[in-house]
Amino acid sequence: MKDRTPRSLPNHAVIEKFAPAKLNLFLRITGLRDNGYHEITSLFVPVALYDTLRISKREPGLEIHCSGRKVPRGSANLVHRAATYFFETTGIDEGAEVRLTKNIPVASGLGGGSSDAAATLLGLNQLWGKPLKKGGLEEIALCLGADVPFFLLQRPAVARGIGEILRPIEGLPSFWYVIVSPPIMVSTAWAYSKVKLELTNKEDLNKIDSFEKADTNIPDMLSNDLESVTFGKHPFLRSIKTSLIELGALGSLMSGSGPSIFGLFNSEKKAQEAGKILAADTRGDVFVVKGLS
Ligand code: ATP
Repeated sequence: MKDRTPRSLPNHAVIEKFAPAKLNLFLRITGLRDNGYHEITSLFVPVALYDTLRISKREPGLEIHCSGRKVPRGSANLVHRAATYFFETTGIDEGAEVRLTKNIPVASGLGGGSSDAAATLLGLNQLWGKPLKKGGLEEIALCLGADVPFFLLQRPAVARGIGEILRPIEGLPSFWYVIVSPPIMVSTAWAYSKVKLELTNKEDLNKIDSFEKADTNIPDMLSNDLESVTFGKHPFLRSIKTSLIELGALGSLMSGSGPSIFGLFNSEKKAQEAGKILAADTRGDVFVVKGLS
């Protein structure tokens, strides 16, 4: 999907950015740094479920309007934090208005807040004629959150370190995904704090190297260290995985710290059929979306 600049407005006065959700097809927690951040190896895939941001210039100051329930207002919103960093770093003495339309469920493992933050940085940088280069954007992104650098890329990528070492992956099969997001929020910090590092399986980390090969069997490598943590607290989530497989998914997994569960499908028709059945059973919001490449 492309950015749309309304034609009736002066050049570059307003832009619209699309902030995609992500799924983790693989997530291993490989270590804990002294500063409390966890090291990970993860395969991130952006999907065609978007928040939208309409960003315009204004006099100094920030005005953030946000639709959607459960989204923090004011300086707690990552859009606000991203914009503040942008103006502080660039020294630009102007302001912006951002209208955020939330479609990605909040605290659901789909990375919506991080994606909004990255889209804000990209949008402001575009509006002001790109004062920040790639490295500058990446630096601010990492200060905002470990997943934010990935959303600057918006392409399938393997993330290492705390999420800042990114290797884009070419030729990943473009699956259809059925995502079920139950109406509970899971704190990412809580889930990470409960992982027993000594129990995480490091053996299959070498699979990450085969991610670059087009013949990788993705359904076979689906794995997430946080799944057992979140399933321990919310056992009903397991039944969503089972249903997705029964409805024809090639594989199914929890994304991030959950609670969203996704199934992979190799055809839109099968994915839509499964989505329709799952939407009727009210275990959560259902999204049928294509992976972005
Ligand atoms: P992650 O796995 O990146 O921690 P998530 O996908 O589980 O996140 P998000 O929707 O990104 O969840 O929200 C994470 C936290 O960020 C929530 O506690 C929420 O209150 C806060 N937050 C701040 N700004 C936003 C925003 N614009 N949209 C959603 N959540 C936001």
